[in-house]
Amino acid sequence: MAVATVDDSVLDLVRKHMREVKVPGNYDRVYKDECMFCFASPESPGGLYINLATHQAFDEEHMELDQQRTSAMLYLHRQARRVPLSEAELKKREDEKPNKMAIGVKGGFQLDEKDYRLETEEALVLLPAWLRIPLPCPELPELVLSCITAVQKHDSASHQASLSAWHEERRVSKYAEHLEQLPATRNIPMDPKEWKCDETGLQENLWLNLSTGFIGCGRQQYGMDSGTGSAMKHYEATGRKYPLVVKLGTITPHGADVYSYAPEEDDMVLDPHLARHLAHWGIDMIQMEKTEKSIAELEIDQNVAMEFDKITEAGAHLKPLSGPGFVGLTNLGNSCYMNSVLQLLWALPELHQRYVDKAAHIFKTAPQDPAVDFATQFAKVSVAERLGRGSWRMPALCHKSNTWQPTVRPQAFKSLVGKGHSEFSSGRQQDAQEFFGHLLEVLSRAEHAAGSRLPGAAAEPTTRLFKFGTEDRIQCTETGRVRLILRCRVFCTLHIPMEAAENRNELEQFQERQQKRQKLKEEGSAAADEHVTPRVPFTACLEMWAADNLVDGYSSAAAGRKTQAAKRPRFSSFPPYLLVQMLRYYRTETGEEKKLDVEIPVPEELDLEPLRAQGLQAGEQLQPDAPDEPPAAASHGAAAPAAPPGPQPDDTIVAQLVSMGFSENGSKRAALAVGNSSTDAAATWVFDHIEDPDFNDPLPASGKASTGGVAGGGPGAPEPSAESLSTLGDMGFNERQARIALAACQGSVERAVDWLFSRHDNLDIEVEEAAATSTSAAGGSMAAAPSGDASASAAQLLDGPGQYELVGIVSHMGANTTCGHYVCHVKKEGQWVIFNDEKVAASQHPPFDRGYLYLYRRRQ
Ligand SMILES: [Zn+2]
Repeated sequence: MAVATVDDSVLDLVRKHMREVKVPGNYDRVYKDECMFCFASPESPGGLYINLATHQAFDEEHMELDQQRTSAMLYLHRQARRVPLSEAELKKREDEKPNKMAIGVKGGFQLDEKDYRLETEEALVLLPAWLRIPLPCPELPELVLSCITAVQKHDSASHQASLSAWHEERRVSKYAEHLEQLPATRNIPMDPKEWKCDETGLQENLWLNLSTGFIGCGRQQYGMDSGTGSAMKHYEATGRKYPLVVKLGTITPHGADVYSYAPEEDDMVLDPHLARHLAHWGIDMIQMEKTEKSIAELEIDQNVAMEFDKITEAGAHLKPLSGPGFVGLTNLGNSCYMNSVLQLLWALPELHQRYVDKAAHIFKTAPQDPAVDFATQFAKVSVAERLGRGSWRMPALCHKSNTWQPTVRPQAFKSLVGKGHSEFSSGRQQDAQEFFGHLLEVLSRAEHAAGSRLPGAAAEPTTRLFKFGTEDRIQCTETGRVRLILRCRVFCTLHIPMEAAENRNELEQFQERQQKRQKLKEEGSAAADEHVTPRVPFTACLEMWAADNLVDGYSSAAAGRKTQAAKRPRFSSFPPYLLVQMLRYYRTETGEEKKLDVEIPVPEELDLEPLRAQGLQAGEQLQPDAPDEPPAAASHGAAAPAAPPGPQPDDTIVAQLVSMGFSENGSKRAALAVGNSSTDAAATWVFDHIEDPDFNDPLPASGKASTGGVAGGGPGAPEPSAESLSTLGDMGFNERQARIALAACQGSVERAVDWLFSRHDNLDIEVEEAAATSTSAAGGSMAAAPSGDASASAAQLLDGPGQYELVGIVSHMGANTTCGHYVCHVKKEGQWVIFNDEKVAASQHPPFDRGYLYLYRRRQ
């Protein structure tokens, strides 16, 4: 590249192209630390070029693409170099130990434990001759100078995105400003040894009520603190008037853990007047030293529990892997759920064909701002992983090993995939299964909209590879009549029957020993004991899923009254990839999410063919069509036979089909679908469509037969309001549960809450049953099959022999899915590989028995 002497001819050239320069405003996005199409950074060889019109950055490789797209001529070139830190600077960093759970915030785990700082060289580059004008250069025209200054000063878009997420989200309590403090009848001693619970006399986990001066035990937390909850009981006993408590052992000159018991807060909060409120009780914040672990520190401790070691294969000397297919993903702060799900998805060669092989075309046809284009962002991360090209940033948390590995920082991807979603846009930990569903939904929408940019994607969306059908065969025990309900799913969700533990004897002995130990401990002579974990065979989980379930109060149309029915779920198709979710999490009566401590040896080979649905058997009869107590919302469709507009099915054809054993509704559909042409044609249609999910549903009021489901747009099925959904969501119910409950309760949130709680023990099963017997489960079926198309008919499902091979595992460690850590294991070329954020290594003991999500590939 020619370094230009800044003479008049060069300045003339700059002026000639000056019109294209745009000074970025405060609200404009400036991309200056990552190429739009790859993970090249200013540190990468060749640096980055920032387009002064669009403020988008490109490395040398992708400059040409930008040229074709924008014909821009003026770029700001940035090349950064590492300068080692001094001894003093290194020492200072060592002193700042993590004391917050969040990663990347000040005082939290530092993401980039750098032993260097960056120095950046900049130049204005003028195309097409690649003339280089080193900066600063005061002779440049004013407009160009202001543009360069604005770009330099602007927070980069990725920085803005990461900032919003990671601060520990504690809000200022609304009770803090005018907190009532009763007359100070006591002085809290400054010496921690003198603190004790006013009720129990215990000396740990003590909370001072800032209003009353009462000291009480906290509730049990994180399985570490002991506690009876005296502080909480005191709040109740004093008429719920004094909600703010401070944890005594956590007070430092910088603050303390303050909790609000007020129902609308019920969380850790900030008290801006804490120093004054403490002084009222004689505590001088400035002199306090932290004696007890803060909540955040307890969470950190929990990360080093045994489970953590097992799943991350800690202690084993794992051989690091790098290069194509072995690229780690930077943890952006609690984003390991996303990293793990991405690594699992990349086990599919189909995705490489669509997003890696066609990446150049996807980039070339990207909209003006590629950062908001999902196909571009997904291709960008996929290419980096596939080709082993990460950024030149120092991999986080690997600094001790001193091994350089390319890592990918999927910040732009995360911002985009979480956009508009209250949880996935936040910096909080998430449920990987929920995120997987969300990602598939976003992917499907993008693929649907992509048109020629992703050839074939609209017809064969990625989701299709996971979708499978289930058949719920519901047989009235009295009449023997059968009803077959077909549904589309993406996850095979398995409950864990703890009573089926194969080591029950050992467990019982262990529990006995534990009780004895407890006594010995009180006498001070307990010996260590090996922890015994319940071990439930995988087949027991599968059997539980497939078992006959007796349903009482079944409205049997054949019997004309309520009877009992046996429900038997089976697979009606076997997709190319099967996602199995082990339901390790459950809610306690208080709504707290807990995790089952259990091992399930999940097999590497799986044959599900014995669980294939057999359809209607010879000699069996279907239930007649009177709907099973359709909720009012759904019955609109059925209850509108009065002169519906449009063509009517031919009665003779319908009667003949019914006499052949098909349902009346299905027969009507068939007659309409073939234009009432002939019974034969209608019968042929029936055989092609009998597995449609809506085959037995009443015709929509318009009288039109649909080949897909009418469920999605079923007339009269009201869409639950976003507010209702979010209310139930806040109570801990997932979207599918909320939708189905609302549909069953005509949209009444209050009744839906009762409905959900009364089914608490067996919520998922009950929800599925409600969905199955309701034609208004449109939203529900969408949630089950995140594709945006409720009309996914059985005919569209991919199918093959039900023999599978395990290719990936996502495991979670921690008490529940809102905290803890996820890692992913993927089988690549016959070798299991562990992906633990940016760390990638050959796995020695994949956690087959401790996983949360399992990805199986069909053998044929
Ligand atoms: Zn690039």
